Amino acid sequence: MSTDVDPSAPRWRRVAAAAGLLDPDGGVRATVFAEMSALAARTGALNLGQGFPDVDGPPAVARAAADAILAGHNQYPPGPGVPALRAAVAAHQAARYGVTLDPDREVLVTTGATEGLAAAVLALAGPGDEVLTLEPYYDSYAAVVAMAGARHTTAPLRATPDGFRLDVDALAAAVTPRTRLLLLNSPHNPTGAVLRRDELEAVARLAVAHDLLVVTDEVYEHLVFGVEHVPVATLPGMAERTLTVSSSGKTFSFTGWKIGWVTGPEELVTAVRTVKQFLTYVSGAPFQPAVAAALTDPAALAWVDDLVASLAARRDLLTAGLRDAGFDVVPPDGTYFVLADAAPLGYDDGVALCHDLPALAGVVAVPVRAFTRPGSPAGTALRSYVRFTFVKRREVLEEAVARLRRLRP
Ligand code: PMP
Ligand code: GLN
Repeated sequence: MSTDVDPSAPRWRRVAAAAGLLDPDGGVRATVFAEMSALAARTGALNLGQGFPDVDGPPAVARAAADAILAGHNQYPPGPGVPALRAAVAAHQAARYGVTLDPDREVLVTTGATEGLAAAVLALAGPGDEVLTLEPYYDSYAAVVAMAGARHTTAPLRATPDGFRLDVDALAAAVTPRTRLLLLNSPHNPTGAVLRRDELEAVARLAVAHDLLVVTDEVYEHLVFGVEHVPVATLPGMAERTLTVSSSGKTFSFTGWKIGWVTGPEELVTAVRTVKQFLTYVSGAPFQPAVAAALTDPAALAWVDDLVASLAARRDLLTAGLRDAGFDVVPPDGTYFVLADAAPLGYDDGVALCHDLPALAGVVAVPVRAFTRPGSPAGTALRSYVRFTFVKRREVLEEAVARLRRLRP
């Protein structure tokens, strides 16, 4: 499926259209996350829309950033990122996944995962190329593919009794001679699916058979509940063709710091660095040493383990509450999102429910439609779904669940 936009329109309008932000009257909206957070602020509703924690990360890590400011880490850091952070990322990938990386040539620090993904797509795809993603997909993917002037194609994740699963045959069918890049995401926003080893092996076989490059968004790599996160770069034939993108925002609950990184073979990392240096050049000088310390500090990593345990419990709380309210829920194995089908409540359109939800129940959610292409089969299948985040304090979730009970038919 592809979004057809007037090819003579300025590029930014095509980007807005690809991201579903162009109104029929020509107006341009902000992202769904900004829109829904503004709706929450306006109505005083509990914001279970935009995914950001309402408790900050480890105080010792925050203190390390404050210390770095006072110690004078306030000018441009090195283009590829401060050496300590590149070394820490390499050490993290080695300790956790057995992946060996040269911190000087195979690790690049970026302004959040968002910039890493954008720079990778801009570096590797252009007019005439297709970039294949899962659907639903994180909203920035469609926008950066449009910025690159490439064509966005998708393969669906489907709701099954076993959670959202990749339709491997549909993925294979979506590959064409023009497919240049496979842009993966696991653990997956918005479904909370964690792709299993067998699903990823099928993806890897396809990538090798068609000589595709793979960019994999693994920002939720730590946030998995009793299942294994398999980095696709660890599968046979993948290391040499895969760029792995991650970030400190989700792992350490500092989403506003925007410290991310891209790892992979030197040639591909060089391609991304070449673009990245003209997007932001560098950023986050005092945050980089703080994240470096966090990635290598056993106490900070223990904090992440506690976060994961607490998130699993909060997932269970919200999942049970949504079911109690009358939604059909597909429980997630990772991330901090859960998808709920509003059809049993009489809503066949998640967008309509999200607009009504503050008045009906004093809660804000995000329609899954924001993560799908207009008119696509996946978008149609998920039309009545909405996304809730459970990365909010337990008492907020308890209050939300109590309020959502008002929806019960
Ligand atoms: N990818 C996914 C799947 C996300 O959910 C987010 C979240 N916000 C990002 C990328 C962006 O990460 P960052 O804030 O590090 O840019
Ligand atoms: N990743 C967050 C989410 O999916 C939001 C990030 C953003 O607002 N761009 O909710």
